[in-house]
Amino acid sequence: MNRHQLFLDGEWTDAVDGATFETRNPATGELLAEIAEAKTVDVDRAVRAARRTFDEGPWGIHALSRDIARILLRTAELIRSKRQHLAELESRDSGKLIGDALGEVDEAAFIFEYYGGWATKIEGSIPATSENAMSLVVKEPVGVAGLITPWNFPIVMASQKVAPALAAGCTVILKPAEQTPLTAIELAGILAEAGLPDGVFNLVTGDGKTGAALVEHPGVDKISFTGSTAVGSSIARVCADRLARVSLELGGKSPNIVLADADLDAAFKGSAFGVFFNQGEVCSAGSRVLVHRSIYDQALDSMTQHAAAIRLGDPMDESTTMGPLVSARQHERVMGYVTAGVEIDQARLVYQGAIPTDGPVADGFFAPPTIFADVDNSMTIAREEIFGPVMSVIPFDDVDEAVRIANDSEYGLAASIWTRDVGTSLRLAKAIRAGTIWINESQPAPSEVAWGGFKRSGIGRELGVQGLEAFLETKHIYINMA
Ligand code: ADP
Repeated sequence: MNRHQLFLDGEWTDAVDGATFETRNPATGELLAEIAEAKTVDVDRAVRAARRTFDEGPWGIHALSRDIARILLRTAELIRSKRQHLAELESRDSGKLIGDALGEVDEAAFIFEYYGGWATKIEGSIPATSENAMSLVVKEPVGVAGLITPWNFPIVMASQKVAPALAAGCTVILKPAEQTPLTAIELAGILAEAGLPDGVFNLVTGDGKTGAALVEHPGVDKISFTGSTAVGSSIARVCADRLARVSLELGGKSPNIVLADADLDAAFKGSAFGVFFNQGEVCSAGSRVLVHRSIYDQALDSMTQHAAAIRLGDPMDESTTMGPLVSARQHERVMGYVTAGVEIDQARLVYQGAIPTDGPVADGFFAPPTIFADVDNSMTIAREEIFGPVMSVIPFDDVDEAVRIANDSEYGLAASIWTRDVGTSLRLAKAIRAGTIWINESQPAPSEVAWGGFKRSGIGRELGVQGLEAFLETKHIYINMA
C-alpha cells in the first residue's frame, strides 16, 4: 500500500493527529494510496514555514531572480524526465485518458519553463512626475500564497498556480483536490530535487476542510482557487473579511454557436469534442450548442455520429476515447442532471451511449455521452454546469438571437463561434461576454495566454503574463531630489 505524507517546511510528515484518507482509481475502484489529511494545526505549520521563508528569506524580496529561474527551468526538466510515470499516476487517479494525461504533463513542464523565463523579466517603471522628484514603480511578490486546485486537470492546475507564484517570489502552500492528490505529491518531491529551499513550497493534502483552514489562515496573503462557483464565492467572502487578495477560476456553461455558413464537418466535430473531451469534466466545456435552425437536423445527425464513435473503457488503454468520471459523487451528480433533463425539463433525449458492463472496469463511474435536443435556454440543463458528457442543443433563427441566448447565463468563461464570415465572427466575439472566445475551434488554452472568466465564472486571470501579475503587488517609491 502506498502511503503519502504532507510536505511541510522541507520535510515529509504525517498529519499531527495521524488522520489519512484514500484515493481510488475511478475506473476500477482499486485503492491507489492512503494520504495524510492535514488539519488546521498542519496547515498552520505550512503557513508558518511559508511566512518565515517569505519574510526572512531565502524567498520573497531576498531571492535572486536568476536563482528562481534556474529552479523553475530545472523543475520543467524533471517533470519531463518523469513524463510516463506522472501521466500514469494522473490517469489512474482521475480517470482521464492516458494520451491526454501525457499531453497535460508536457504542458505542466512547459508552464514551469514559461514562468522560469518570466522570473528574470519582472520590471517596474519610472513615470515622469516633476522636475524635482523621481518615482520608481516596482513590482514585489504579494506574499504567502494559498493555492487550491480541482481534480479535472490536476498537474496542469497545480503548475499554473505554483510556477507563477514562485516566479513572482511568493512562497506557497498547495492544497490539491482530495480525489486526485498524487501528481501534486510528486511535484513536491520534484521541486525539492530542483533545489527549491525548504519551506518555500508546502503541500497540505485533505478535503474542503483543509482548503477552508488555508483560506481562513491570517498568515496567507493571497488565495488562488479553481473549482466550483459555490465554493469560490464562499472563499471570496472569507477573503473579503481580511482583504486577502483572491483569484477565482470557477464554473461555466459555455455557448458553442454554429452558423449555417460554417465548415459544418469541422463545426460539428469540434462541437462534439468541446463537450465530450475529458468526459465533459471541463469548466469551459461548450455544453450549450446553439445551432442555426436551417442546419439543425443535420447537426443532430452529425453530432450523434460523433458521440456514437466514442469508446468508453479503461483510460489506460490507448484505444479508449472516454474514461470514467472522477468519483461516485460526480457520477451521481451528472446522472441526476440527465434525469432532470428528461423528467423535469422534458427535453428531447436524442442520444445516450452505452457504458462498459463487464471486465475490470464494469464498476467504473462511467457516464454515457448524452445529447439533448430542443433545449430551451431556461431549462436546468442549459443553466447549470453539469461537468459531465451532456450536450444541450438549442436552435436559433438569427445571429442576434444567438448572442442573446449566449449571454443569457450567469457564467462567462468561454464561447465558440463557427462561421466562415470574418466580420460576423468578430462581431460575435465582441458581443459575447466571456473570458475566451474561440473562432472555428473549441477548447485550446495555450499557457502563454490569459485564462479566466467574466461574471460568475471568476475573478482575475491565470496563465500568460496576467497569471504572473496575479502574484505581484505594485509599490511606488518617491524620491525628493530638491
Ligand atoms: P467539486 O465540487 O467539483 O469537487 P470544489 O469546488 O468543491 O469542486 O473543489 C475544488 C477544490 O476546492 C478542492 O481542492 C476542494 O477540496 C476545495 N474545497 C472544497 N471546499 C472548500 C472550502 N470551503 N474552502 C476551501 N477549499 C475548498
